[in-house]
Amino acid sequence: MDPGTQGQWPPIKDIAAKVQSGELKAADLVEQALEAIADNKEYDAIIATTGGRARERAKDIDARAAKGQEIGRLAGVPFIAKDNFLVYGAETTAASNILKGFNAPYQATAVNKLEAEGAICVAKANLDAFAHGSSTENSDFFTTKNPYDMARVPGGSSGGSAAAVALQMAPFATGTDTGSSIRLPAAFCGVVGFKPTYGLVSRSGVVAMASSLDVIGPLARNVEDAALVLDVIAGRDNLDSTTIEKDPRPYTDLSFDLKGVKIGILKEYMDDSIAPGIKTQLQQAIDKLRAAGANITEVSIPSMPLSLAVYYILCPAEVSSNLSRYDGQRYGYTYPEAKDLEESYSQSRGRGFGKEAKRRIMIGTYVLSSGYYDAYYKRAQTVRTKLMQEFETAFSKVDFMVGAVSPTGPFKIGEKASDPLAMYLADLFMAGANLAGIPSISIPAGINDNLPVGLQLMAPQRADRDLLALAKQAEELLA
Ligand code: GLN
Repeated sequence: MDPGTQGQWPPIKDIAAKVQSGELKAADLVEQALEAIADNKEYDAIIATTGGRARERAKDIDARAAKGQEIGRLAGVPFIAKDNFLVYGAETTAASNILKGFNAPYQATAVNKLEAEGAICVAKANLDAFAHGSSTENSDFFTTKNPYDMARVPGGSSGGSAAAVALQMAPFATGTDTGSSIRLPAAFCGVVGFKPTYGLVSRSGVVAMASSLDVIGPLARNVEDAALVLDVIAGRDNLDSTTIEKDPRPYTDLSFDLKGVKIGILKEYMDDSIAPGIKTQLQQAIDKLRAAGANITEVSIPSMPLSLAVYYILCPAEVSSNLSRYDGQRYGYTYPEAKDLEESYSQSRGRGFGKEAKRRIMIGTYVLSSGYYDAYYKRAQTVRTKLMQEFETAFSKVDFMVGAVSPTGPFKIGEKASDPLAMYLADLFMAGANLAGIPSISIPAGINDNLPVGLQLMAPQRADRDLLALAKQAEELLA
């Protein structure tokens, strides 16, 4: 396929305005999305469509618009939810066999907020099971194909969401990012992926991976669309006590003067591990920012080389705890022939979880066990604090940081699947932002070897609006 040429959805705010005025019908938009999904079935981006529910909602929205009622800022806009978001009336599997058959009894706050503004969920996107992974190859169901090259991965874990947006199945999709999962697939599929400040978007109703790292954010075709979606989903939620107030200034206000803005090239994110073609592309992007008036310097986070090790201790520790709720009794799959409770636990979990989930449960339980807690978990927490302090110091010198998203472009399906360590290394330049809780965005920065390249921009905690504004400028410069 030729991504970017199919379907061609208008900008989200234009769709909403036209649905409100009756110029476009939500019902037609839903059909357009469902058709694009059906036409691109071979990419395996979608686990299930939610057509019945979507058509009903569209009918209601069109009827209300016809009566002149105010629908909202996302009136009739179709979207795709990563399948770890609970959506009423739809199965939520998180791409894991153990959740097969689990129907959402309540709905994610983010989905409620999107629907309250008139958006319509048309499908659930594929992911690495429980969001563990960087390629969607850990999905218990199937691997999503990269829209630019079907032999390659779309990145993960929100690979289905990113591929769906690149294939124009819908104007935007939701994702979760615990260590890379919005930004990496966005980079690999040539779309925009925004990871907000930790706590800015409620995680209520989203399947937990590692709770001190998980954030929710949009994948879209451009920064303006991503900012609008963020503005709708951000803010305090009584159902998630880690949430923070949104910025009083709307995230859609992207006015910004690049002149004199201090951007630090993060030394550790522009090192020699990056494929030369990608590095050249990124350097050209940075040169354009400089030429447009940005004050570019170099910054360093000395402990950054430890970030991946810290992430792969803390993340499995939290994963092992969060996955303990899947015991075969409360959600999804139960082994039907168990003779007693213990067998039901062990068989349901043994058969229901995939390899990667089991690997993380074992590593997590190990690093938390009394004999090893001080050696691993506690030390990792200490280094995490150090990393956060180093980010703070660096951000006292610059307003933003820039670097690569990934040292390589999209890799071949199967290339890293049997080597978990090689797979974990794909997150080298991304887990730091999750450990520090800072916002980070991946925007398209051209093509290398016929495959998309992503540029990563980062800002201090709560500077989400400024980061989006910078990204918008960068997007225009790189267009
Ligand atoms: N690839 C990382 C992991 O496997 C990050 C996943 C994510 O952000 N959900 O843990």
